[in-house]
Amino acid sequence: MNNLLNSINETLLMGPGPSSVSPQVYSSIGKSTIGHLDPKFIEIMDAIKIQLQTLMGTNNELTIPISGTGSAGMETCFVNLIEKNENVLILNNGVFGARMIDVCERLGANVDSINQKWGEPIILDMIQKKIDDKKYDLIAIVHAETSTGVLNPMDEIAKLINTTDALFVVDAVTSLAGLPIHMDAWGIDALYSGTQKCLSCPPGLSPVSFSERAIHKLMNRKNKVPNWYLDLSMIANYWSGKKRAYHHTAPINMVYALYQALYDIIQEGVDNVFEKHQNMHEYLLIKLNELNLELLVEKQYRLPMLNAIKIPEGVSDIDVRSCLLKDYNIEIGGGLGDLAGQVWRVGLMGYTAKKENVDRLFSALSSIL
Ligand code: PLP
Repeated sequence: MNNLLNSINETLLMGPGPSSVSPQVYSSIGKSTIGHLDPKFIEIMDAIKIQLQTLMGTNNELTIPISGTGSAGMETCFVNLIEKNENVLILNNGVFGARMIDVCERLGANVDSINQKWGEPIILDMIQKKIDDKKYDLIAIVHAETSTGVLNPMDEIAKLINTTDALFVVDAVTSLAGLPIHMDAWGIDALYSGTQKCLSCPPGLSPVSFSERAIHKLMNRKNKVPNWYLDLSMIANYWSGKKRAYHHTAPINMVYALYQALYDIIQEGVDNVFEKHQNMHEYLLIKLNELNLELLVEKQYRLPMLNAIKIPEGVSDIDVRSCLLKDYNIEIGGGLGDLAGQVWRVGLMGYTAKKENVDRLFSALSSIL
């Protein structure tokens, strides 16, 4: 019988995620699976907490990877922190802000949103107006909007949100390990990420961190968390409790991969890693200039790891992306929602963020266009 895996070749992943995976991370996944209560595994779990705290800029004890992709991290934050009829404000400027609204509405929250034009950052005055008008229990924002390539200005936004009593939730799926995050200094109460972006792991885990204030809210809920699998009050007993009480079987080999990816980033030096992302973004810009290609987002608000490139008039989005994949083994992303057919999304995340990869894409695009 034909084994379908035989047809899988290495593709250069230059889209919005997953990003390419390093040989060290691949080989970590192939290590022997051990038990989820094996003392050696528990040592790895404890090490991951410290590694994640370093990248997230926090001392939060409850800092763990949730089993599931970035969306599981998003649900974890909201199912644990929201109760029915609570007032929630979502600062929405793309697909993932819109997903937050959907998740919170499903939980029976009263959801208000600021809906900024895609490709533009959230403006402080918009937030000020909302928080002057109403008291919110929770306010959430996407740090790096992967659907548009926009970086929301967290320093200023955090200051403003910290003038309220609302719990502050941040999506750091694309920003973690690509941009500095100061969870404690920004007064963030819950933050989630994903493994397949700047951490350059295969998808499957979602690092999450909860502040003391978030834990207090969780422990004093009127009603049980409405989702068993993502109930952090139980999961925390396994990840950080003294008893290591079984909740669900940890995805052992994915946890190895996360450990190895974080280990490599910390060895490289987190500041060097941020600088590398910025340098590769700037190098890509030089190359795009040579092809007369422009970015969607204004300079000040551009993400280094995700570049939304305007598709020139008369050029077929699908034809170019199919040709890149079929003839050059390079994957880039298309636009989502309102931006479908209008932009390409080129990711320079983690292990993908290399000069030789930018050169390879440039040379392919030069031939195709
Ligand atoms: N949030 C952001 C900013 C994302 O970019 C993504 C995925 O691309 C998600 C959330 C959802 O993550 P996942 O697709 O891993 O569930």
